[in-house]
Amino acid sequence: MTDPTPQPRPDQSGDAAHVDLAPDSLVVAAGRPERVEEAPVNPPIVLSSTYRSVGPVQPGRRSYGRSENPSWEPFEEALGDLEHASLPALLFSSGMAAIDAALSLLPLGGTVVIPRHSYQGSLVAVHESESRGHLTVVEVDVADTDAVIAALPGAAMLWLESPTNPMMEIAEIAVLARAAHDAGALVVTDNTFCTPLLQRPLELGADVVVHSVTKYLAGHSDVVLGAVVTSDAELRARLLRTRTVRGAIAGSFEAWLALRGLRTLAVRLDRSEATARLLATRLAEHPAVSRVRYPGLPDDPGHARAAAQMDGFGSILAFEAAGGAQPAEELTERVRLWLPATSLGGVESLVERRRRHETEAPTVPPGLLRLSVGIENAEDLWADLVQALA
Ligand SMILES: *Cc1c(COP(=O)(O)O)cnc(C)c1O
Repeated sequence: MTDPTPQPRPDQSGDAAHVDLAPDSLVVAAGRPERVEEAPVNPPIVLSSTYRSVGPVQPGRRSYGRSENPSWEPFEEALGDLEHASLPALLFSSGMAAIDAALSLLPLGGTVVIPRHSYQGSLVAVHESESRGHLTVVEVDVADTDAVIAALPGAAMLWLESPTNPMMEIAEIAVLARAAHDAGALVVTDNTFCTPLLQRPLELGADVVVHSVTKYLAGHSDVVLGAVVTSDAELRARLLRTRTVRGAIAGSFEAWLALRGLRTLAVRLDRSEATARLLATRLAEHPAVSRVRYPGLPDDPGHARAAAQMDGFGSILAFEAAGGAQPAEELTERVRLWLPATSLGGVESLVERRRRHETEAPTVPPGLLRLSVGIENAEDLWADLVQALA
């Protein structure tokens, strides 16, 4: 017989015990099946579009594969724990689907204040919505705290990204979140570049965190996924409803791959950040390089802020080729170990001249190359850059 009263989900991770774990333990331990005899070490991949269910459909009980999927839950528990949220994350079919869901929290016609160097997909999304009359966009230089605060009166949402993509500017998240709340605005932070291992925006005052899971969290350039995290039950219920109604859901296999990738996040980040620091320092001295942007460099304009709010400086950096677009483009043709490709956060090192995208902000220098440092040997990566810069 089926008991029609809602039951709490079986706790897959025993996560109450996880709150005290360091993040490098949490990435390994969170989202595991219950510790019972003969339990598998890893959660199974469940391939089912529907679930046996009798009687009234109850929220929180599995009934259909667009609303619930046990294959999402281990990753959602793990990411919620890592962001120090009180609720599990929500997995989406892509980072952009997660961003779309977060933007759907805006009232019709509401104003969103957004960094002018945000991820270009986010900027395209808000400007397209603006052109349909759904919202109003105010772009800001997010490193200029006073300018952001001045833009807040009347805004319904402050969108944050720090470091910004690809200019590596650092926003003062806690100060801006407080000012946004005073103005009655919701604060959303895209934490893709940092992951919760380097920055936890909810602790800095953000209401909602979005991720492109495609990047560091999954980490192997083999899936496209996104996630939203919040500790606010009402906001989470609205985001969940958006996911269920609009249907931007993850596949079971992709969710499993993301959890598998998450297991090594801490060691991948340690390794790639150490290499990024080394490369940034050496590039800053190279005669064919006019400027390096990396918050880990002591003379970077964002260094002090980044040191205060992050647990590391990450492994994305940007530099400008002396001579502009042409030598930068040629570098991407000459590299042999670095892969010329868009995206970031995988084990393989990628290089891209950002202005090759027509939609990239015109304030991004034409000769700017974004590096996503992977986990290859640091000297091999340096040698390849040197030969390509020659
Ligand atoms: C890639 C990326 C996104 C978009 O995520 P997708 O998974 O490609 O949809 C959003 N924000 C940032 C910072 C990104 O790097």
